[in-house]
Amino acid sequence: MKNTYFTPGPAELYPTVAKHLQTAMDEQIGSISHRSQRFRDIYKFADEQLRTLLNIPATHGIFFTGSASEVWERLLLNCVEHESFHLVNGSFSQKFYDYAQSLRKFAHKLEKPFGEGFDAAEIEVPEYAELICLTHNETSSGVQMRPAEMHKLKRKYPQKLFCVDMVSSAPYPDLDYSLIDSAYFSVQKAFGLPAGLGIWIANQACLEKAERLQRYDATTIGAHNTLPMLWKHYKTYETPATPNVLFIYLLGKVVEDYNAIGIQTVRRHIDEKARLLYKFLETSDEFAPFVKNERHRSQTVVVANTKKPSNEVIAGARQAGMIIGSGYGKLKDSQIRIANFPAVSVEQVSALLAQLSR
Ligand SMILES: *Cc1c(COP(=O)(O)O)cnc(C)c1O
Repeated sequence: MKNTYFTPGPAELYPTVAKHLQTAMDEQIGSISHRSQRFRDIYKFADEQLRTLLNIPATHGIFFTGSASEVWERLLLNCVEHESFHLVNGSFSQKFYDYAQSLRKFAHKLEKPFGEGFDAAEIEVPEYAELICLTHNETSSGVQMRPAEMHKLKRKYPQKLFCVDMVSSAPYPDLDYSLIDSAYFSVQKAFGLPAGLGIWIANQACLEKAERLQRYDATTIGAHNTLPMLWKHYKTYETPATPNVLFIYLLGKVVEDYNAIGIQTVRRHIDEKARLLYKFLETSDEFAPFVKNERHRSQTVVVANTKKPSNEVIAGARQAGMIIGSGYGKLKDSQIRIANFPAVSVEQVSALLAQLSR
């Protein structure tokens, strides 16, 4: 029996992936040179499709990395001389902060307990922080930060660079790229592709910062995938190193499929399924939404407290061909996580809810 994956990454593959993969094999995409016109066309196509889907203006470049966590390191090396500031409320935002410490940056954090979110009004950004690190969707706890709050914060601190982790929610958040300097994601979450490709969106302000740091003797922006190097190659739709050409191709095709549906509809489908999920949790005797404040509840990764040990719930669903995520870290035994990405339909979510209410 074929399973449905409600796991928050790797996740259910988008239904059109198999077809696109077959076309890629037929067209021998795996063997083409990354210095060929064929590759430049593939990069350009993915770039155009992403710009349309996410409303990315010409001020921002779109670059490919190995993963989203690689982008954490790139951002810290290229955009921070001394100080970064992190909003931390779960495992992924904490990891970004840990990377900053490993790279010997002076990292500040404002921390909230697992399951709680941030609003702009309560945030004081330290005076010398150069890069403000926000997480749109904290995958470990199912908490989101609303784009309007991010935009508000940037308006309050216009001189600082703002970056947004939207790994487990893109293309859901409607970011205003005149206010967001950089954003990034991986493809194995809401784009429904296998893991192995990161997407880094960054603007001229990030590039200028990296170029400035590059001129200082006392700082390094690293050697691999530096922003000036990525940008230089991007001008001709190339990459410094040999990239994951197959996945760049697949991403362009899946994003084209999303564009055919239309971003508004894609977001509306996510909203509709999220409503079903939260309504179920709120009225259930066996489950409850983990995130108490509705404003901070994630639309794309729904976390529930379970009355029964979560491994029983997960095993029951698995027997019915539905794979759901366990809780994160010490909440492993008392929570489940359900990904609500475009690859799962309303019918599949309804089937999951029927299973959970048995
Ligand atoms: C999955 C995830 C990451 C890391 O992505 P990788 O592809 O494993 O590098 C970072 N941030 C968030 C919020 C995530 O969900």
